[in-house]
Amino acid sequence: MPKVVSHIVTRPGRTHGDPDVEIPVAEDLVTEPGNPVREEDLSYYGREHPIEAHFIENSADREWLWTMYTPEFAEWRRRHEERERPLAEAGEVSGDIEPTSEPQPGIDVTESIRTKARELGFGETGFTRYDRRYTYTSRKRWVRFTHAICLALEQDYAATQTLPSEESEHAHFGTYEIEEAYCLELADHIRSLGYHAQIHGHSDSSAPYIPLFVSAGLGQLGANGQLLSPHFGSRARLMVITTDAPVTHDEPIDYGINQFCEKCQVCVNRCPSNALAKDKVWWRGAKKNKVSYKRCRPIMGRYDGCAICMKTCPVQRYGMQPVMEHYVATGKVLGKGTHNLEGYTLKDKGYFGPKEKPHFDKGFFDIPRGKEEDWLFEKFKERIAKEGAPPDGEATGFANEVKEALDKSHSKVGQVEP
Ligand code: SF4
Ligand code: SF4
Repeated sequence: MPKVVSHIVTRPGRTHGDPDVEIPVAEDLVTEPGNPVREEDLSYYGREHPIEAHFIENSADREWLWTMYTPEFAEWRRRHEERERPLAEAGEVSGDIEPTSEPQPGIDVTESIRTKARELGFGETGFTRYDRRYTYTSRKRWVRFTHAICLALEQDYAATQTLPSEESEHAHFGTYEIEEAYCLELADHIRSLGYHAQIHGHSDSSAPYIPLFVSAGLGQLGANGQLLSPHFGSRARLMVITTDAPVTHDEPIDYGINQFCEKCQVCVNRCPSNALAKDKVWWRGAKKNKVSYKRCRPIMGRYDGCAICMKTCPVQRYGMQPVMEHYVATGKVLGKGTHNLEGYTLKDKGYFGPKEKPHFDKGFFDIPRGKEEDWLFEKFKERIAKEGAPPDGEATGFANEVKEALDKSHSKVGQVEP
């Protein structure tokens, strides 16, 4: 049954120079531009209970993750980090570099920056206020400048459809390497216009970036906890540059995703560990489908980053325009119930088509949790409870392990957030 169209969203084409695309939004999908937020709650949590970066809060499972890699992938990952380290270090100090020319008074440089970003290869570029309420505790003093330039770089299509696989992990990490180099170039361009530019990387991110992207009109938050942008859904890597350049902010857009996800639910149904919630809840001032970290992480770690929730999303697979056109024409979700969209293979368990899911024993989900130092302490306490007080030498060894874990948490540059 065809649907009545409420409005058409017009967006620039996928790559620079492509014609605009028009995305029809059915009347029954309309909610509001962006995602629902309660400003007062957002302010309260940002002020009283600020969040901390994932790689600090969950340092225990980061160590565990490396033990799950094949020797070949661990070696590839080490080389990736070597390639990326100088880029991340350059980004870390980028905000301190002075502009290379005098600014032209009264000139808005939004389109100059947007065009340069598109020429470099960013599929989505948008401008918004850098909302400090989302900033991680450890990065609060680092962040400079009030405007955020949101930059999404598409990840290879074919490699992504093979996930979970090492091939798709190469695409995932490889995209960040390219993106960090592009950001350095874009920052140089901003300095040549007479302004400062600070690169917010992925490995030492300053905040969860999705709310900024939503505010800049580049997509909406999907039930899989990822940004669904028009051309590639969540198959993109996100970075931000903050600047003091005079820019005009974009507006959030209603693409119909808030409601569409409630009808679709493919990622929720296909997640191998039931880590995705069917219903939205209010969480720290945002209405969202909350991902269960403790159910997701063991799968991600053991199955090459998993991301089946990305692979099985029709917006990632087919693009938002065909998905929304199909919905308007039929009232149905494009690809839902098909092997093409919903099928996936887990390396030790085989292929799972629509309605089929793997089974995992309870012990499968038992992995190190929280901060590494806290995890070490928990294990130490358990041991004392079982075996009594350890000899002095062992207590000193434990203290050294905790010190090492704390030192790692406090050195941020080059840490990788998988
Ligand atoms: S990454 Fe895998 S386990 Fe985690 S939410 Fe997505 S589908 Fe589920
Ligand atoms: S799979 Fe469906 S429910 Fe999940 S994020 Fe994509 S559109 Fe939303």
